[in-house]
Amino acid sequence: MKSIYGLTLEDIKTWLEDHGEKGYRAKQIWQWLYVQHIGSFEEMNNIPNQLIEALKADFDFSPLQIQIVQTASDRTTKFLFKLKDDHMIETVLMYHNYGLSVCVTTQIGCNIGCKFCASGLIPKQRDLEAGEIVAQLMFIQRYLDEHEPGSKVSHIVVMGIGEPFDNYENVMRFLRIVNHDQGLQIGARHITVSTSGLAPKIREFAQEGIQVNLAVSLHAPNNQVRSSIMRINNKYPLEELFDAIYEYIKVTNRRVTFEYIMIENVNDQPEHAQELANLLKPIKKLAYVNLIPYNPVVENPFTRSPKENIETFFDILMKNTINCVVRKEHGTDIEAACGQLRSQYLKKQADKEARKANRVNRRDKSPKK
Ligand code: SAH
Ligand code: SF4
Repeated sequence: MKSIYGLTLEDIKTWLEDHGEKGYRAKQIWQWLYVQHIGSFEEMNNIPNQLIEALKADFDFSPLQIQIVQTASDRTTKFLFKLKDDHMIETVLMYHNYGLSVCVTTQIGCNIGCKFCASGLIPKQRDLEAGEIVAQLMFIQRYLDEHEPGSKVSHIVVMGIGEPFDNYENVMRFLRIVNHDQGLQIGARHITVSTSGLAPKIREFAQEGIQVNLAVSLHAPNNQVRSSIMRINNKYPLEELFDAIYEYIKVTNRRVTFEYIMIENVNDQPEHAQELANLLKPIKKLAYVNLIPYNPVVENPFTRSPKENIETFFDILMKNTINCVVRKEHGTDIEAACGQLRSQYLKKQADKEARKANRVNRRDKSPKK
């Protein structure tokens, strides 16, 4: 059964009409969900019982079951959820001087398979439904309502596990639900979607007429380096990716953020910085580079660039008048890198299972008395 969180206001209206109910109820239900942040159908106390029963017959409330909440010294908080089919996903809440942001997951695993990424280690098992993405945000908003009354999630980054543009329809639906002006009202300009560079979807996104920010995981200044760490670059090499980005900029006149993780000796040398500056020169006015110190993942050989490499890299971009910041890290003491809490949890579970199997095995093999 689908979650009520996957419906737009218009979908609720249609469902009501199909059930012979008054259309104005849609707005009431919507406000219960996104203004009052209620946690169950029963709390909709101006909705007749028989309508609540009908809703319950067709929709789940939240599809998420909380498993772990982990808070770091800088208050970054990670939430590990179990879905209806037992898959695990994680969501992160971060505190900034400009507000509170939530990083949502869009898929279970990811098929893009970037070499440096913990999520890329697990092939995609399925896309998340829009309701499962909205529910992550609503769980955290309700958590805030309880623990820090008055605090509101103000920003969203679609940068958790998964490639959002490989789950395009559900992600667009999610964006329209959380951006709705009679609901959560999270401003489109406060939302950022990050893609590994699915060129055709960047073109499609340009046509959506939505003010949501686009971030592109670039991570390399040339095809050779990029292909060595991101196999998506074989499908959409830089020429094709940048053609799509030029089109996006032409259609929307919006800035594009380029994420660039700094990996020691892979993409962090001065010549890489100069090459990156040259690559971005034609769109300099609307290009913003985010240099991200790499968060090491146990399962791969990459290491974080030393501070001096990041500083030199930054200076070269600045000299070339490319807009650039070094991204502040969040929650490093709780494995805040994308996918790490989940992969650690799954590993622990697997270890536990293995130990259990081992014990059973030993018992089977032990000589019978
Ligand atoms: N699939 C999308 C969005 C999710 S990943 C994408 O790739 O853009 C969000 C960002 O985290 C991407 O820029 C990704 O490259 C980066 N990332 C992945 N693993 C990382 C790690 N171990 N340390 C730092 N950044 C990482
Ligand atoms: Fe997928 Fe993004 Fe990780 Fe690449 S970096 S494997 S696209 S989640």
